[in-house]
Amino acid sequence: MSRNLFDRLFASGLDLARVAIRHPDGSVSAYGDLAARSGQLANALVGLGVTAGDRVAVQVEKSAEALTLYLACLRAGAIYLPLNTGYTLTELSYFIGDAEPALVVCDPAREAGVQEIAKQLATGVRTATLDSHGKGSLSAAADAQPAGFATVARGDDDLAAILYTSGTTGRSKGAMLSHDNLASNSLTLRDYWRFTADDALIHALPIYHTHGLFVATNVTFFAGGSLILMPKFDADAVIAAMPQATAMMGVPTFYTRLLQHPGLTRELTANMRLFVSGSAPLLAETHNEWRARTGHAILERYGMTETNMNTSNPYEGPRIAGTVGLPLPGVALRVVDPENGVQLANGDIGMIEVKGPNVFRGYWRMPEKTAAEFRPDGFFITGDLGRIDTNGYVQIVGRGKDLIISGGFNVYPKEVESEIDALEGVIESAVIGAPHPDFGEGVTAVVVASDKSLDEARVLKALDGRLAKFKLPKRVLFADELPRNSMGKVQKNLLRDAHKNLYV
Ligand code: ATP
Ligand code: MG
Repeated sequence: MSRNLFDRLFASGLDLARVAIRHPDGSVSAYGDLAARSGQLANALVGLGVTAGDRVAVQVEKSAEALTLYLACLRAGAIYLPLNTGYTLTELSYFIGDAEPALVVCDPAREAGVQEIAKQLATGVRTATLDSHGKGSLSAAADAQPAGFATVARGDDDLAAILYTSGTTGRSKGAMLSHDNLASNSLTLRDYWRFTADDALIHALPIYHTHGLFVATNVTFFAGGSLILMPKFDADAVIAAMPQATAMMGVPTFYTRLLQHPGLTRELTANMRLFVSGSAPLLAETHNEWRARTGHAILERYGMTETNMNTSNPYEGPRIAGTVGLPLPGVALRVVDPENGVQLANGDIGMIEVKGPNVFRGYWRMPEKTAAEFRPDGFFITGDLGRIDTNGYVQIVGRGKDLIISGGFNVYPKEVESEIDALEGVIESAVIGAPHPDFGEGVTAVVVASDKSLDEARVLKALDGRLAKFKLPKRVLFADELPRNSMGKVQKNLLRDAHKNLYV
């Protein structure tokens, strides 16, 4: 039997008459419509020369047609390779050169530039277009095709997608994800989060990232529920959709922005059963404010491009702010000494490692990097530092690459940030290490303050006595906002770069 993710999503029990997508204009697409359209698009892909195992790179605005193209790639046995819409042509040339796709689907405005890149790389890549309304040469080609398509059989280990990481810590890496990597994790999450055919999920996330593409979409489709599809996050639109919705998945900035909206009330969210947050740390303060305003405890989970989701706060049982919950069923998680891989006792901070059917097949064309990130017993080294508390809940303290070593002592930025964030007049902060002639790295705080009279001396005075001397910032700087990427992740590399000469 084929283990193609599409076949598993559209298994025989699915009621094709059910609504799969609610569009912004109020119209709907049933599962049967998606099956038919993905068949047309798959036929169009084959017509453009795409064969099983080929990469199809897709850099297009979010639309229902773009989401259907993902399904079409699965059906054609191709490897879906979505790209952040923010990438410039120069950045695209790296990804196209790296991935060597058979086809690039892009916005019509980009096509000439992509063709130029393809010519320079001499890889023989073809192009087709889709615009923000889901129209373009690809959809025109699909219109002329029949809906029937015999989905290409795939095995569990065949690649379904190559998804590039967010590039928060360096150049993005292509994570190779198999059909079963995606299916197994989505099925686990569907059951863990109790998704059913009655669910309607607010979908305001981008679809080039694992959160919006795989978690939100596959989990909902595996349940036979519907997506309330929005082109992007817009607080007014989300508020307007809430009474018809049952669930939302978002990055922390969705929640902080919704909290600023006067329309967010307990009554508005009465029909909602679940709010999920991930991709970046959710401040405990946001969790608490949300609970006070709406009565709902946001469920925080932890995952990454390479592994899909690893941990989640429970559906029933306490959702603890500042933790990412428990390892998901089937996922083994341990915390080890980064130096030697020896497992640490609960409570100790170390490197988080995971193993399970969710873990990817390696980095695309980076065999050395892949080998370096796996232990001999198959555990993947996530690069995230954390600890497991006495109840088994995982707390992430930050990325290994963000750890500061000052005067020989480890300083975990999160610990310092938490103290600073708790101060009156502080909105948020980022703590980084900057090269320091005496200490190796100097602990440096970048603070976003609501109280504009707050200054360095006051912050330092407030921290004195709350943190050990070696953890105290050597300097406290102020900024209007922290640099974030499209998934709401703070880009500490940019801050480190901006302040690299602070002490030298
Ligand atoms: P790159 O690997 O290219 O540097 P990235 O790690 O940001 O970029 P993603 O795979 O999108 O790329 O993000 C995964 C990372 O996001 C995790 O390793 C973790 O650091 C962070 N993350 C995800 N969920 C959470 C969470 N709930 N709390 C804290 N951090 C989280
Ligand atoms: Mg990463």
